[in-house]
Amino acid sequence: MNFDALFQFQLDTLKQEGNYRYFAELERKCGKFPHAANHHDGDVRDVTVWCSNDYLGMGQNPLVIDAMCEAVQRTGTGAGGTRNISGTNHDHLLLERALADLHNKEAALLFTSGYVSNWAALSTLGSRLKDCIILSDAGNHASMIEGIRHSRAQKVIWKHNDVADLEAKLAKLPANAPKIVAFESVYSMDGDIAPIRKIVEVAEKYGAMTYLDEVHAVGLYGPRGGGVAEQEGLMDRITLIEGTLGKAYGVVGGYITGSAALCDFIRSFASGFIFTTALPPAVAAAARASIEHLKQSDSERMKQRAQVAKLRDGLDRAGIPHLMNDSHIVPVMIKDPVKTKMLADYLMDEWGIYVQPINYPTVPKGTERLRFTPSPLHSDEDIAHLVAALTSLWKQCAIAHAVA
Ligand SMILES: *Cc1c(COP(=O)(O)O)cnc(C)c1O
Repeated sequence: MNFDALFQFQLDTLKQEGNYRYFAELERKCGKFPHAANHHDGDVRDVTVWCSNDYLGMGQNPLVIDAMCEAVQRTGTGAGGTRNISGTNHDHLLLERALADLHNKEAALLFTSGYVSNWAALSTLGSRLKDCIILSDAGNHASMIEGIRHSRAQKVIWKHNDVADLEAKLAKLPANAPKIVAFESVYSMDGDIAPIRKIVEVAEKYGAMTYLDEVHAVGLYGPRGGGVAEQEGLMDRITLIEGTLGKAYGVVGGYITGSAALCDFIRSFASGFIFTTALPPAVAAAARASIEHLKQSDSERMKQRAQVAKLRDGLDRAGIPHLMNDSHIVPVMIKDPVKTKMLADYLMDEWGIYVQPINYPTVPKGTERLRFTPSPLHSDEDIAHLVAALTSLWKQCAIAHAVA
């Protein structure tokens, strides 16, 4: 059997469709964010990163760096085991307490990533709760979809952010079956925000538990960075809040928060929690420093909002269409995978601007886009440079259209 030929055949198909993924080989430069070096074909060039999920630049915050360095000196590199077998360190528990406090919950549980936390929590809930039915928003992230699939629980998909559809589907289900309504607050690709209050009201009416992924909101929304549910005063009405330490908090790791019994249940039964080495204590210490800082500092969030507004304003003035939403995510729809890649290549080569083309399966086919995430560290000059680059591109496209 020529396995490589089998692999290559499918890779070639991806390339023909324009869906093959090319990674930019970046070298982040501490203190220079959003500027970084890009390694390409033996060349190294400075680029401005416009698609990072280190939304506030906390990955280079001196407090976070100091916390990680201090903890490495104090505890060494790795955790030394799974949480069960010698891997639970004091720093993990301090972080879990900080997370429970962030969301005003009794308890929190740490995972090696946000993906793993969704996958493990949903697969455990769906498989361990007898006759459980999971109602999943159609726009949910792959980590939730995979967790639900793995649970083998009955799954009902409701229309994205459509509370009437959710209610219609809930109403048809057996009253006494345990139900979970799983959704996100900020959807990362369109940047739209769920009507959390209405979803909670409907879920409460039908006795369903609520499972909320706040991955793209923690650190960024709410007076202490607790997410959109904190901003809306709804945290205590959500059964389980899930988040990441890898995006706005600038480190790595994922977590769930909820009642003590819920977290103990996942801790006790989730394979994805039990059978893997705990995060390095230094990672936990750095994440906690980031969380605690953003609990009491609003300046990063305010500056980010200002830069997001400036980019939107610049795009509007230049006549470049972008998806409007209430979040920090600025999608420019191109709707074709090959064109999206061409535009991204051009921005990188001619303008030193790095924005990753977003293609299938991250977004549905035909909705390919460039997705910009302005941070508090993108200067007004960075924004002007991006708008100038896109303006020049748009003019060239208009010319191309006219000639064609
Ligand atoms: C990125 C992402 C995750 C996974 O979080 P990681 O910490 O990166 O593994 C979960 N949910 C959503 C909506 C995400 O975008």
